[in-house]
Amino acid sequence: MLKRAGYDEVTVFERGDRLGGVWHHNTYPGAACDIPSHLYEFSFAPNPRWSRRYAPQAEIQAYLEDVARSHDVLDRIRTGTDVTSARWDEERKRWTLETSAGVHEADVLVTACGQLSVPAVPPIPGLDSFAGPAFHTARWRHDVDITGKRVAVIGTGCSAIQVVPAIQPTVAQVDVYQRSPGWTLPKMDFPYSERSKRLFERFPVLQRLDRASVFAFQELAAAAMTRHRWLLRVFRAISRRRINAAITDPELRRKVTPTDEIGCKRIMLTDDWYPTLTKPNVELVSDRIAEVTPAGIRTQDGVERPADVLVLATGFATHGFVAPLEIAGAGARRLTDEWAEVPRAYLGLSVPGFPNMFLLYGPNTNGGSGSVVNTIEAGMGHVIAALEELERADARRIEVSRQVAEAFDRELRTALAGTVWHSGCTNWYVDENGHDPNQWPWLWTAYRRRTERIEPGAYALDR
Ligand SMILES: Cc1cc2nc3c(=O)[nH]c(=O)nc-3n(C[C@H](O)[C@H](O)[C@H](O)COP(=O)(O)OP(=O)(O)OC[C@H]3O[C@@H](n4cnc5c(N)ncnc54)[C@H](O)[C@@H]3O)c2cc1C
Repeated sequence: MLKRAGYDEVTVFERGDRLGGVWHHNTYPGAACDIPSHLYEFSFAPNPRWSRRYAPQAEIQAYLEDVARSHDVLDRIRTGTDVTSARWDEERKRWTLETSAGVHEADVLVTACGQLSVPAVPPIPGLDSFAGPAFHTARWRHDVDITGKRVAVIGTGCSAIQVVPAIQPTVAQVDVYQRSPGWTLPKMDFPYSERSKRLFERFPVLQRLDRASVFAFQELAAAAMTRHRWLLRVFRAISRRRINAAITDPELRRKVTPTDEIGCKRIMLTDDWYPTLTKPNVELVSDRIAEVTPAGIRTQDGVERPADVLVLATGFATHGFVAPLEIAGAGARRLTDEWAEVPRAYLGLSVPGFPNMFLLYGPNTNGGSGSVVNTIEAGMGHVIAALEELERADARRIEVSRQVAEAFDRELRTALAGTVWHSGCTNWYVDENGHDPNQWPWLWTAYRRRTERIEPGAYALDR
C-alpha cells in the first residue's frame, strides 16, 4: 500500500525466516482461516482461485507471498532480522532502530508485530520435565511423527478445535485438556468448484458481492456482540442445537456446553469438533491439570494419563502488542511506561508522545468478528493519510494530540463496558484487572470511516 501510494523507501524487518506472519508460523495440521477467504484478502489483490471457502494455511501463506512478489516488494523485506529497540531522536526527527543486523534509521516507524505472534506457554508445574516432544501449535514440530502415538493437547480454543480433528484419525489416542469450553457455530466450509473459480475470475463483481455479503454477516455478528446483544440469543440457540445433535452422552454434553455468554470468548467456527470428541480414541478431560510428569499429565483428581507427545494449544501473549521490542518516544519516555495501566492508542494507530509512529493491528483493533486483514488495510489507509498530511504541511513531525487520544479512549472504554466480552468470562482480551487492550467495540464500518481521513486537530504537525 505504501508503494502504491508512492512511498518507495520502505524497509520491512521480520524476525522469522519468511514473510507471512501467523501463516508462516502456524503450520499445525488443520490450520486454516476462520473468516471466508474472500474477506480475508486484500481488497487490492483479490484471489478468485481460493480452493475453499476458508483457505488452509499453506494457501494463505502462498497468497501473501504472491502479493509481495506481484507488488514487487520482496526486496524490501529483511527476514531473519529482529528489531530489538526503537528510539525517537527529537533533534533529527528520526527513529533509530537497533536490529539483530545492525542499526537502521527511519523518518517514520510503523509497527506490525501482530496481536497473536508471541506463543503463550502457561506456567504448568513440571512442563519442562516431560520426556517426549512438547511444542506449541504455533511452532509445530513436523519432524515428530505422531502416527500411532498418544498425544495430549492442552487447550480447547481456536487452534485446538482445528488441530484435534486433523490428527485424530492418525494417532492412537488424543487427550484434550479443557479449562473452559467455548461456544461454536457451523463453519459450513466447502471447496470451490473449478466452475466457481472461473466465474470469479471472469466476473470479479461476483467475488466483490460475496465479499460484501461476508462483511455484512460479520457486521451483524459485531452488532450482536456490542450494542444489540439480544441478537446473541439466535447464535446461542444454533450452538446448543449442534451440541445436542452431535453428542448423545450427557456427561460429554455437559463438559462442552459453556456456562458463559456466547461471544464472550471468541466464537469458534467448526464442523468437526463435536463429532471428533465422540471418537473412541479421544477423551475430553475437564479436570484441572495438577502437573505434567515425564510420562504424561496428572489431573487434580489424581489420574495420570500417559502421553508420548504434548501439544500446547494455549494461545498467545496478546497484551504486549510490540513486546519485547522496546520503544522510547519523545523525552525518552518508554512505551511500556505510557502503557503501564493498559495499552491504548488513538484508533489503535497512534500514541501521544510517540511522533511519526503508527501501530498496525494495535490496541483495540481486534474484534469478535470481521477480518483482521481488512482492519489492517483500513489502518494502513490512515497511515498513508497521515504521511500525506506531513507532505502537504511540509512538516517532519506528526504526533497525535493527547487531548484527542484521551477523548477517544474514554469513548472507547465506555462502549467496551457494554459489550459481551466484558460479561464475565475468561478470554484473551480482558486482563486480570478488567482492562481490555484488544477489542474494538463498534462496527467495522465505523473503523473504516474513522480511519480513512485525518480529523482536523487530531494530529500536530511540526517542522
Ligand atoms: C492460527 C491463527 C489463525 C488466525 N485466523 C484468523 C482468521 O481467520 N481471521 C482473522 O481475521 N484473523 C485471524 N488470525 C489473527 C491474525 O493475527 C491476523 O489475521 C493477522 O495475521 C495479523 O497480521 P499481522 O501482520 O498484524 O501480524 P502477524 O501475522 O502476527 O505478523 C507479525 C510478524 O511480526 C514479526 N515480529 C514481531 N515482532 C518483531 C520484531 N521486534 N522484529 C522483527 N519481527 C517481528 C513476527 O515474527 C510476525 O511474523 C489468526 C491468528 C492465528 C494465530
